[in-house]
Amino acid sequence: MKFGGTSMAGTERIRRVANIVRKQQAGGDEVAVVVSAMAGETDRLVNFAREANALYDPAEYDVVVASGEQVTSGLLALTLQSLGCKARSWLGWQLPVRTIEAHANARIEGIDGSALNAAMERGEIAVIPGFQGVSSEGRVTTMGRGGSDTSAVAVAAAIGADRCDIYTDVDGVYTTDPRIVAKARKLKAVTYEEMLELASVGAKVLQTRSVGLAMKEGVRVQVLSSFVGDDAVPADEIPGTLIVSEGEMNELVEKGEMERQLVTGIAHDKNEAKIILTRVPDKPGAVANIFEPLAAASINVDMIIQNVGRDKGETDVTFTVPQADLARAQALLDDRRDEIGFNRIITDSRIAKISVVGVGMKSHAGVASTMFRALSDRGINIQAISTSEIKVSVMIDEDETELAVRVLHTAYGLDAEDEAA
Ligand code: ADP
Ligand code: ASP
Ligand code: MG
Repeated sequence: MKFGGTSMAGTERIRRVANIVRKQQAGGDEVAVVVSAMAGETDRLVNFAREANALYDPAEYDVVVASGEQVTSGLLALTLQSLGCKARSWLGWQLPVRTIEAHANARIEGIDGSALNAAMERGEIAVIPGFQGVSSEGRVTTMGRGGSDTSAVAVAAAIGADRCDIYTDVDGVYTTDPRIVAKARKLKAVTYEEMLELASVGAKVLQTRSVGLAMKEGVRVQVLSSFVGDDAVPADEIPGTLIVSEGEMNELVEKGEMERQLVTGIAHDKNEAKIILTRVPDKPGAVANIFEPLAAASINVDMIIQNVGRDKGETDVTFTVPQADLARAQALLDDRRDEIGFNRIITDSRIAKISVVGVGMKSHAGVASTMFRALSDRGINIQAISTSEIKVSVMIDEDETELAVRVLHTAYGLDAEDEAA
């Protein structure tokens, strides 16, 4: 069981979480619980680190930001004890949760499940702070924002759990962010592949890495709400959304429990920025000269467009980078202006990426053209396009994000019926 930041925000909510955990155990299960820091706490800690030293050392940043989860894991253990349960917290270094050295963005290498299994056999509820691990040097590491989802899946894999229930502030995975589109529909199930793609293009309900890990380890994941009353449907009856293999999805469709849709979901991401380099020489090696320094600085480039060469043997190159890396990317490219040979560098962080995702598009034509027509009918201009086998993404003006998501949700027939009337 994993509980996110909103579910852990304050004593009252932790008590509600403790009750959900207690009930699950009382039903005869052994449970391990992974918790996030209280909502807003990690942001607060990140700001402290920045204020202390703008060019912070990532190893010390991790010491600071990992503390939010230490607090909530202890508080949940205390609350469970107050309800008469046996409970014990296990910090990242105590299990241990071994990660690679990459501070602030560590990847889990392995978790020793033996202490957890032994604790659960003794009837104890094991409470584990998410987001944190320990490097081979013995220093605290953290796993990137939203990383508690990944901690939870990794713990589930390590102890061979029957299921990993991710409790959050919505009751499942929806066709799009239900906070943006009131007509969004809850999905009974989503395939790993689609969820991976949705998460990677901005659906923040699960961290991308957690989905990749669940797919690799075959962990059954359910997303469900912790904001429920005492009469709620038990988690074992799957009131939320199950992340399933394609085979399982086909079975659900055959049984009539799921409809096969061309598009499963729509996501948006406002965290990217656009860079245009004008009048780049149209010759072999020019593009490599642009992207090599960015790669060396671990800056992730997403969409790339290179226009057809103009008559003077020059071309414009447009691409996107995370907003947080924009200043760094611009400085790196400015330093190499002569070597690359571009004329001007133009940047814009007021852009958004809107993506439609669905395995159905593997075998059906027309998904992209529907998207382009629906957007153009509302006067929304497309600045760049990228595709994968099961996704089409477009870059648009940030101000048009909500409108675009709503228009596409309707265009692909995803609107919930009762609300659409
Ligand atoms: P937690 O703190 O529990 O980890 P997050 O804020 O990380 O929760 O994720 C839950 C949020 O994800 C929801 O409040 C919702 O606004 C957002 N979200 C974005 N896309 C979706 C989607 N397709 N389905 C459900 N929630 C989504
Ligand atoms: N507390 C961390 C964050 O806010 C990890 C998590 O909640 O998943 O990013
Ligand atoms: Mg989250």
